[in-house]
Amino acid sequence: MGIAAERIDRLHDLARRAAREGDDDRARKYVRLARRLAERNRLRLPREFRRFTCDACDAYLIPGRNARVRTRDGHVVVTCDCGAQSRYPYE
Ligand SMILES: [Zn+2]
Repeated sequence: MGIAAERIDRLHDLARRAAREGDDDRARKYVRLARRLAERNRLRLPREFRRFTCDACDAYLIPGRNARVRTRDGHVVVTCDCGAQSRYPYE
């Protein structure tokens, strides 16, 4: 794993921890940093990162706290508190 990928992993951890502690602003900062790093280095963000972050407001999503998760028609639908939804196939 390259240095950028490792930093993205680290930021993902930090974002998750901040979100769990209820510090959404800090979590957002880490999410944005990780996105920027991935862009600059042409890296794909880890799947878990993509699934637990909101594309609209960059929140790190904790189901039951700032996001709702439902399954529908073989898809998982994640709704952020900001109203944005993302869906992906159920596995
Ligand atoms: Zn959102």
